[in-house]
Amino acid sequence: MEKKKMRILTGDRTTGRLHLGHYVGSLKSRVALQDMYDTFILLADIQALTTHFENPSLIHDSIFDVTIDNLSVGLDPTKVTIVQQSAVKAIAEMTVFYSMLVSVNALRHNPTIKTEAKQYGYSELTYGFLGYPVSQAADITFCNADLVPVGEDQIPHIELSRKIVRKFNDMYGTFITEPQAKLSDVPRLSGLDGNAKMGKSLGNAIYLSDSADEVAQKVRMAVTDPARIKISIPGNPDICNVAKYHKIFTPDKYDQICADCRAAKIGCVACKKILINSLNTLLDPMRERRAYYENHMDEVSDIILTGSKKANEIGDAQVAMMREAMHIAI
Ligand code: SF4
Repeated sequence: MEKKKMRILTGDRTTGRLHLGHYVGSLKSRVALQDMYDTFILLADIQALTTHFENPSLIHDSIFDVTIDNLSVGLDPTKVTIVQQSAVKAIAEMTVFYSMLVSVNALRHNPTIKTEAKQYGYSELTYGFLGYPVSQAADITFCNADLVPVGEDQIPHIELSRKIVRKFNDMYGTFITEPQAKLSDVPRLSGLDGNAKMGKSLGNAIYLSDSADEVAQKVRMAVTDPARIKISIPGNPDICNVAKYHKIFTPDKYDQICADCRAAKIGCVACKKILINSLNTLLDPMRERRAYYENHMDEVSDIILTGSKKANEIGDAQVAMMREAMHIAI
């Protein structure tokens, strides 16, 4: 008998198109893992509402943009399940059940919530924002996901999900899967402006949907070693952002580029040209797949609807089992 694959749940907030930072940090490994795991990709529109509730058109458009971003990198819709979070009724219902098991103080002291609140400049937190880790526990467990790929900053959320599940199982005698974090050890891609993070809102990103010319233009503007004002001055790749990109996107030439930079044998213009070429070589096949899906939007809608229908069937069964265990099923 064929061994049942472990289930992975991952996803993206629908607050704008995805960029190279998302690719390096998550999408690339999703493609590599899609044959190994039963992969669920959540279009996290409810989570997007917690910070972007005043911008419904952005959230709506991003549901499609993020789906196409995922498909463009090579995720195969016959292998992965793409799910619209708000379409899965079980997630909303389970969020309510789970909210009884978490204290407000535990959420207030969650380090990720504190960091994100600061980042968004929130002095007062909405109920929805404060509670989104509870909703995340429902996202992960409506389908009994075994693994959740995360970066270091998301670990507190997974720990909270595990605690909630443990408490629920202990209290009601259920067997909801306690999820495990699958820690990614990929480097975080800095912004083109040298900012430590490439961000949708920071204006320093290369998007997976950027044209070859847009990529070239952005790389030409990228911050390099500020002391290198002339080609004859040796550069320091250790402090150069472009060098960091080469390490990821031109790994076979990285050592040579650094040596040539230190010896003033290569100028920043030529160095950036190599990077532009590497990035466009990576992005070209994605552009081809993107063009296909952009011309077949009905297929994109079908992929989301089919995935969400499957998720609803799984989630409804999970909620029915939970209601039974809680003695609220009539
Ligand atoms: S040559 Fe390349 S690595 Fe060296 S400072 Fe210029 S852009 Fe950076």
